[in-house]
Amino acid sequence: MSRQYKKETICIQSGWKPGNGEPRVLPIYQSTTFKYESSEQMGRLFDLEESGYFYSRLQNPTNDYVAAKICELEGGVAAMLTSSGQAACHFAVFNICEAGDHVVMSSTVYGGTFNLLTCTMKKMGIGCTVVDPDAPEEEIAKAFKPNTKCVFAETIANPALVVLDLEKFARLAHDHQVPLIVDNTFATPINCNPFAWGADIVVHSTTKYMDGHAMAVGGCIVDSGHFDWSACPDKFPGLCTPDESYHGITYTEKFGKAAYITKATSQLMRDLGSIQSPQNAFLLNVGLETLPLRMERHCYNALKTAEYLERHDKVAWVNYPGLKGNKYYDLAQKYMPNGTCGVISFGLKGGRQAAAQMMDHLELAAIVTHVADARTSVLHPASHTHRQMNDEQLREAGVAPDLIRLSVGLEHIEDIIADLEQAISKVS
Ligand SMILES: *Cc1c(COP(=O)(O)O)cnc(C)c1O
Repeated sequence: MSRQYKKETICIQSGWKPGNGEPRVLPIYQSTTFKYESSEQMGRLFDLEESGYFYSRLQNPTNDYVAAKICELEGGVAAMLTSSGQAACHFAVFNICEAGDHVVMSSTVYGGTFNLLTCTMKKMGIGCTVVDPDAPEEEIAKAFKPNTKCVFAETIANPALVVLDLEKFARLAHDHQVPLIVDNTFATPINCNPFAWGADIVVHSTTKYMDGHAMAVGGCIVDSGHFDWSACPDKFPGLCTPDESYHGITYTEKFGKAAYITKATSQLMRDLGSIQSPQNAFLLNVGLETLPLRMERHCYNALKTAEYLERHDKVAWVNYPGLKGNKYYDLAQKYMPNGTCGVISFGLKGGRQAAAQMMDHLELAAIVTHVADARTSVLHPASHTHRQMNDEQLREAGVAPDLIRLSVGLEHIEDIIADLEQAISKVS
């Protein structure tokens, strides 16, 4: 079969493809370990001479079928699931950075990733320079150092909703011989394929739209196979020189385009764990089957809600990249013409206090530390997810103190708007 299937078909049909008499639905391989007939065969697995499963801390078949589906959706060559989106971000960077190295990161990334790069990985000896993603290219170029190993940014920033100029960032990264790692969680591969615009590695928090039902925390890393690590072996010794912990194999020589994901599996998963549970991978797979349908409705409901809020006289501002007149409308049209995501941010004229008051009156939308699932939810980042940041850091991250993050769900649009209407009307 030579036909290249559309994303709707990939979401339903890819990954697990049962053979004769096998279960129609992806099985959950609820097993820590796998059995072999000979000691020699097991030995060959440990030498990476043969591929196969031996222990679910490193790899599990259920996970790999789901990773293969996401890989196909993104147009990559290899992928792995991780226990969370944070684990995916960590591994994606740590797979090519070690103590003494440096990362260039967009200032508007998710709060957890901001902490990971600027605090936790700093303690591991990996430096990070934060850049304004909207700054001119020459300005951002100044952040690069000889020890810079990657650039990290989000296609649609959570919660700032800044749309990344992917081509600009890919150019900056490649001019400095390093890969562009993009967190594509909010856009999902349904609305944006960063590899088509020059990104080299994509990460996801599958916890969000991919699962879509707020059931399973998880992450994913996908490699485009485009970045030529061996063109700069001095920059990426972990991939281009022998790995002593694997009998001196060199990943780029032995695994070619699968080098990056193979190293992440056989080194980082082996030593640090953080694999997704097969149960969660199963739930993620169920979510993926309806992802295109759900994204379409999330985007429709979000646009209607944004338009409603924009017209409201108690609303000070609305930020949704799908709104005409939004600062990022043109970039969104270019990189995600079918829609952006279901998340909106807005502020009320009464500021921070009005935000809290309004949220307390919501009946349908719930206050939860989560976005991007079927249920409409709200959050006030300055008092919740980003509360460890000072005002200056908040502004740098594109988060105003009065910002309300509204994740528009799949309820009927009239019910969503009616709930907002009654809550806003109670704000004094
Ligand atoms: C939620 C989120 C993360 C972290 O993912 P977890 O699954 O919660 O660990 C990373 N990046 C973005 C853009 C997110 O929205």
